[in-house]
Amino acid sequence: MKLVLATNNQGKVKELDEMLKPLGFQVIPIGEYPGFSEVEEDGETFTDNAVKKARAAAAFTGELSLADDSGLEVDALDGAPGVHSARFAGEPKNDAANNDKLLLLLRDVPQEKRTARFRCVIAIAQPDGTIHTTDGTCEGLILGELKGVGGFGYDPLFYVPEHKQTFAELDLENKNSISHRGKALKKAMELLYRLYTNQEG
Ligand code: IMP
Repeated sequence: MKLVLATNNQGKVKELDEMLKPLGFQVIPIGEYPGFSEVEEDGETFTDNAVKKARAAAAFTGELSLADDSGLEVDALDGAPGVHSARFAGEPKNDAANNDKLLLLLRDVPQEKRTARFRCVIAIAQPDGTIHTTDGTCEGLILGELKGVGGFGYDPLFYVPEHKQTFAELDLENKNSISHRGKALKKAMELLYRLYTNQEG
């Protein structure tokens, strides 16, 4: 069965292809369908954006389609940057500028009040308009300075107390096992398996 991924992020395509191939899905990036115009991520929630992207891809291709949306919610900032995580410091998208802005906004906030979480929503859309969603979160604290060199985005500021490391210090396998995206993806795979395959395993 075909599954279209409504993303041009090669890392996500590779990761999902590896996970879904064993279930019998043929994973096809949306880029292989000429003429699909990128969906504006203007929703108020991660779910809004993920559903919008998955629905647009399913309508355009006529195939089962999957999309995700994610970001960071900081409690001391009332949930910001949230859906604006990628462009928190403005255009163009810049991870270093986003981290600088976050550090500046939190400069007077004591460590115990720097609680935050990453959140990810995955939407799966059928061509007939039926939608399923899964989500995942990972709780942590925003440090006062960057720590670690791996990962991307806010990873060097996001400290996970259980692991005593930031996301940027964890290797990818460990990050995926506890991350918002890893958790949402695991649920999405279980859902796809239940709904669309007859295989065991
Ligand atoms: P997207 O949903 O992949 O487009 O992510 C939106 C933005 O949220 C990214 O540009 C990052 O700023 C932030 N973000 C999402 N997931 C992560 C993560 O695992 N680590 C660090 N930043 C993330």
